[in-house]
Amino acid sequence: MENKELIQKYLDEIVISAKEIGRDIILMEICGGHTNLIMKYGIRDILPKNIRLISGPGCPVCVSSQYDIDCMIELAYRGIPIATYGDMLRVPGSKYSLDDARAKYGKVFEVYSVQEVLKLKEEYPDIVFFGIGFETTAPMTAFLLKNNVCVYSVHKVVPPAMLALADEDLKVDGFIDPGHVSTIIGRKAYDVVPAPQVIAGFTPERILRAISVLLELIKNNKGVVINGYPEAVSEEGNKNAQDLLEKYFYIADSKWRGLGELPKSGLEVFDDALNAKIKYKDILKDVPEPVKTGCRCGEVLKGLIEPSQCPLYKKVCTPESPVGACMVSEEGGCAIAFRYGKENE
Ligand code: SF4
Repeated sequence: MENKELIQKYLDEIVISAKEIGRDIILMEICGGHTNLIMKYGIRDILPKNIRLISGPGCPVCVSSQYDIDCMIELAYRGIPIATYGDMLRVPGSKYSLDDARAKYGKVFEVYSVQEVLKLKEEYPDIVFFGIGFETTAPMTAFLLKNNVCVYSVHKVVPPAMLALADEDLKVDGFIDPGHVSTIIGRKAYDVVPAPQVIAGFTPERILRAISVLLELIKNNKGVVINGYPEAVSEEGNKNAQDLLEKYFYIADSKWRGLGELPKSGLEVFDDALNAKIKYKDILKDVPEPVKTGCRCGEVLKGLIEPSQCPLYKKVCTPESPVGACMVSEEGGCAIAFRYGKENE
């Protein structure tokens, strides 16, 4: 149940600050869960005209590169059993998706938990887990590595992507930082990004409060990180999860869909024997660079265009027949725009 009084209070604050700042402001929400909430409650529509909210690369499925999907399809083609989370199966690679690969070659499994992967390993000892997502899902993949499951990791870490997005071309004035990722990495992890930031929870009130606080920071020229979700996010984050990540992964450069290769933005498997990219390097070396599809997910993920500005949106690309990753996941910007019919042109 929304607290209407609080909502009105934050809106009033936002209106006053927007007037005082007196110029156009761009705020980016990083988390797909926040994007969903913002679209569901029409938050973009009720903000003053000079405050623009754009969506960032916070959907784990959407930022996984087409090349990595092609690599997984190649492994499936060679008869190597694959397991991954549901949405990833539907993301198109250069020619087709892992779902199509399942129909053609079999042994591609959709899982909802790491326990299911361990169960599959009893029957398929050489199963490869396609590990996707941010710091939130990576500890579960670390648990699989601890149990000797081979992993193809496309796990990403959030702060380096924010650093890339904070560059001058994009002109983001402030960030609404993700709630779930922050429970793992803690408030301090964002200090490396020199921009006003507020970590937010998952209610319309909290999003509006984050916007109000961000405008206050911008007004006072303060590039600091405020924890607006203190009941779940601590200063240091979850030490146990961080220890697991440190033990089984190392930080490496990583390919992001739409953002290209970002330095020190991915988690790579420490143990070569459990790293599918090393173990199957002879198979993977011939996977070509991805074919261009006309999808503009990259620009959507950077907040450079709205989904409706992609020529394929709703015409060729729909949730039933997605051309790009942003139309697949519940947290994808194009799928969210399609769901709520808010194009924000
Ligand atoms: S509408 Fe489809 S093709 Fe266009 S950017 Fe979004 S996912 Fe890509």
